[in-house]
Amino acid sequence: MSRPYNFSAGPAMLPEAVLQRAQAEMLDWQGTGMCVAEMSHRGKEFMSIAEQAERDLRDLLGVPDGYRVLFLQGGASSQFAMVPMNLAAGAGKADYLNTGSWSKKAIAEAHRYCAVHVAASTQPEGFKRAPTQAELQLSDDAAYLHYTPNETIEGVEFPYVPESRAPLVADMSSTLLSRPVDVSRYGLIYAGAQKNIGPAGLTIVIVREDLLGACHEFTPTMFQYGVHADNGSMYNTPPTYAWYLAGLVFQWLKDLGGLEGMAEINRRKAQRLYAAIDASAFYANPVEPASRSWMNVPFTLADPSLDADFLAGAREAGLLTLKGHRSVGGMRASIYNAMPEAGVDALIAFMAEFERTRG
Ligand code: PMP
Repeated sequence: MSRPYNFSAGPAMLPEAVLQRAQAEMLDWQGTGMCVAEMSHRGKEFMSIAEQAERDLRDLLGVPDGYRVLFLQGGASSQFAMVPMNLAAGAGKADYLNTGSWSKKAIAEAHRYCAVHVAASTQPEGFKRAPTQAELQLSDDAAYLHYTPNETIEGVEFPYVPESRAPLVADMSSTLLSRPVDVSRYGLIYAGAQKNIGPAGLTIVIVREDLLGACHEFTPTMFQYGVHADNGSMYNTPPTYAWYLAGLVFQWLKDLGGLEGMAEINRRKAQRLYAAIDASAFYANPVEPASRSWMNVPFTLADPSLDADFLAGAREAGLLTLKGHRSVGGMRASIYNAMPEAGVDALIAFMAEFERTRG
């Protein structure tokens, strides 16, 4: 049976090979007679799965010594609070870049725990590009600079890594593992798993050790990075099955040639889809070309009254979840790692046929 192509922004497609492996191991993981979901998180079987997953993730990203990798819960949304609670206790102030719906949410949450200085905002122009380095008005005394390298809803991506004196904090929910990253440029990276990493329920945090342990005293125990780092992400019961599936995704990525190989494929997928949109007078993408996301491609139809027909036709053609986010409308194709090139080609072919017959 061939499966449909799912363009959801998250939870998103997982690699078929990963799902098959999980299926094969479902009732009996490597002769233990147990499903991974049934294992004690402190038992040697799960510990070996957890350690392998962390090693593979460190390998893939080239995480330098001096950084801790945490496997947490609570989604990226919890990080909106954890970051200021843990990192802004001393300075009491942080810089934020406002570049789309998710950075806006991060800013709103940070206001509860520290003074927030918005060092650049593209909101007045409707979030259609990343600000340039020269536009950033950074403070001298900020505890960190927070930004969102890929805005999942608007499809806006930074084509560069901002320079700042303060440690850089990045919400990489919709871009981590899509290409190589120089982790040493960052103080802290976080990502909800449900796009490129694995199932929802797992949140990855990569944090420089010197940033651990200086949290506000009111910080709940479960929100303290130091507690999770000291306990190997096992202060409480971690999301064991999601951690295991993420580990299978890491192995899949390594087999594929690591993040450089993945980046090549992702670049091709995005280029083909944007080229098809730009070549058509019927479809449009509002984002400045230099800031276009490789992962989330929003587009509109020249006649929005055809949106429902487009979505129905796409569904019939096995192309699912193309409706844009409710806040921006139109369409959005999320083409994360697990979306095969053939899925993007099928979408492009469907779009051309729809334009020919209905446009
Ligand atoms: N940040 C970004 C960039 C996202 O794309 C999302 C989820 N779509 C979030 C934060 C929120 O993540 P979660 O639902 O895991 O809290």
